[in-house]
Amino acid sequence: MKVHVDTDLCAGFGICVGICPEVFELHDDGYATVLVGEVPSELEDLVRRAANQCPAQAISITEDSSPQ
Ligand code: SF4
Repeated sequence: MKVHVDTDLCAGFGICVGICPEVFELHDDGYATVLVGEVPSELEDLVRRAANQCPAQAISITEDSSPQ
């Protein structure tokens, strides 16, 4: 799974960082950045939760083609 934050949409609420600080980091400029290229499988549920809860819907997820 890959995850992407659209910095045009992100409003810096930091909810994603609170849910999964291993993957998301709040940038000094006020938006979240993604720390990993490939999301470790044990963090995928947290990343999905962060995407669901992002108020700006700035988090997009790309699922791998092969099932986990
Ligand atoms: S929850 Fe959404 S709006 Fe908030 S920092 Fe994360 S990506 Fe940005």
